[in-house]
Amino acid sequence: MTKLEPQNLPDAAATLAWIATRCDGELERARDLVAGFKAQRPTDSLEALHAWNDIEVALGNAAAAASVYAETNPDGAVRDAADQAMQRIDAFSTDLGLDRDIYEVVTAVDGTGLDPDSSRLLERILRDFHRSGVDRDEQTRERLRDLAQAELLASQEFAKFIREGARSIRVRREDLAGMPDDWMSAHEPDQGGLVTVTTDYPDSIPLMTYCSVASTRRAMTHERLNIAWPQGDEVLQRLLGLRAEHASLLGYDSWADYDAEVKMIGDGGAIAEFIDQISAAAAGSAQRDKAVLVARRRQDVPEATDIDAADLTYYSEVVRKEDYAVDAQLTRTFFAFEKVRQGLLEVTGRLFGLTWRRVDDATLWHGDVTAYDVLQGDERIGRIYLDLHPREGKYKHAAQFVLASGVRGRQLPEGVLVCNFSKGLMEHGEVVTLFHEFGHLIHHVVGGDQQWVRFSGVATEWDFVEAPSQMLEEWAWDADILATFASDADGHTIPPDLVDRMRKADDFGKGFHARTQMFYAALSLGIHRSKPDDLTQAVRETQQKYSVFPYIEDTHFQCAFGHLDGYSSGYYTYMWSLVIAKDMFSAFDHANLFDPEVASRYRDKVLAPGGSDDAADLVADFLGRPYTFDAYAAWLAE
Ligand SMILES: [Zn+2]
Repeated sequence: MTKLEPQNLPDAAATLAWIATRCDGELERARDLVAGFKAQRPTDSLEALHAWNDIEVALGNAAAAASVYAETNPDGAVRDAADQAMQRIDAFSTDLGLDRDIYEVVTAVDGTGLDPDSSRLLERILRDFHRSGVDRDEQTRERLRDLAQAELLASQEFAKFIREGARSIRVRREDLAGMPDDWMSAHEPDQGGLVTVTTDYPDSIPLMTYCSVASTRRAMTHERLNIAWPQGDEVLQRLLGLRAEHASLLGYDSWADYDAEVKMIGDGGAIAEFIDQISAAAAGSAQRDKAVLVARRRQDVPEATDIDAADLTYYSEVVRKEDYAVDAQLTRTFFAFEKVRQGLLEVTGRLFGLTWRRVDDATLWHGDVTAYDVLQGDERIGRIYLDLHPREGKYKHAAQFVLASGVRGRQLPEGVLVCNFSKGLMEHGEVVTLFHEFGHLIHHVVGGDQQWVRFSGVATEWDFVEAPSQMLEEWAWDADILATFASDADGHTIPPDLVDRMRKADDFGKGFHARTQMFYAALSLGIHRSKPDDLTQAVRETQQKYSVFPYIEDTHFQCAFGHLDGYSSGYYTYMWSLVIAKDMFSAFDHANLFDPEVASRYRDKVLAPGGSDDAADLVADFLGRPYTFDAYAAWLAE
């Protein structure tokens, strides 16, 4: 077996040239391979699939590098170059999907006698061609080509406005009452005595949680809900219009139907039913817990009859502290960033039978980034990068990015976690997010031993993709697991009874949280089923119907709702995946989350196959039965 090597990444001075080699070089290779494919017209089925796979590997490599560098590189010129490379890659992919000559070669391939994996690949290739519109008339194909290009430009513009659209407030020190000491010492006032607080997570989330001055929280909420307004609204309108036309040209009722066709859920109508089903199941619990928040707020504001986003996080924290004896300011003393990162690696390594070996000599795009080789036994099976702190111009949320997809005997899977955590003490919620994102990363690496790149790593149905990540969150809530790494500055381990109270406190609000998620899901679905003229009005109406918290006047949440780009009409994915995650988690021994037997079965049956089988079948194989709603419903009712 050949020993595979990870990529060598460029230093700052060489990055622009590297983008040219890695993105445009691989694109050129794909172009040559396509020309060869057309010239040779392979009729042997496996030969044709291998030739096709080569094209997909080259294109995938180019796109992966472009997306990582566009979202993470500290140099704006590199980010722009990466965005532009992505436009060329995307244009080529669109052309490929609409190329009649190559389609003819592929349709002539006789799939009889292929092994199941290869037969699935052939079926997927034909399905992709059909969905890209190759079998339409010349004029339609021409328009589809233009639409794809315009859609990408709009997506990139939307992402860039969010990425570069951080806002801030400037407040007096006394208006920051309640903020933790370490946060205050990291936020010194300027010469005029004012403290600048940005909308970036490490600034704004603690403020929304701890600041006892209502007007400060409201000012920050206003900024947070107006990120990328008004530019984002205009570009979003454009994007929605393009997607609607695209779906309609291909004969679908809406973009949502087009998008859902290749997912577990099937069509837009089924998404709407799912949203209503979850909303109904969560209604009782949502109203009950909201009443607790309003009652508590009334102690401070006697005339209060409701509560909105400016006070929600703060009063949730107050209730957690007063009713559940969980003080997040105390809790966070157990979560120093370095210990958490190390602990995460040890926990997941032990669980999945992997070793993460720090690579000290790798060239990286920023000093905050760390690299690790992933070992299974003695064999290196991948490399991961952790880019976990915020900086200007960097992606603002938390996500796993693919730097290379694994292909058996050919290239190692490489993945990047891009997050925005503070460097000091972490909120427990950040620890949960870290475990979540790491779940994607493990899926990418463990699922990266594939013959066909089409099925590598997280290449499952897109509405299953959040199940492994949401399931791994459970490990960040377990006292025995946390005890292995969560200790304060004096070395005291987090007490199990505190973790128990944290879990109970976290359960508070799960109903209204589910309703908020269904508001997001309904918005993402609704505006992709029929495009409204006024998106802010759509937010207002959808929020009123699904969320139990009211819309705040003069805010435009849609402009920074980045998932409208990546997930388009499919935000329901999170809840759909959560239902499956809860079911998969029921197979583990909750008293011993380190049990290697279940964990390795899960690794081999659910993660390792990547997209080579339907997610529903992988889950059924692991559980020994089809997945159901029961575990989720029981959790919601608890
Ligand atoms: Zn996720």
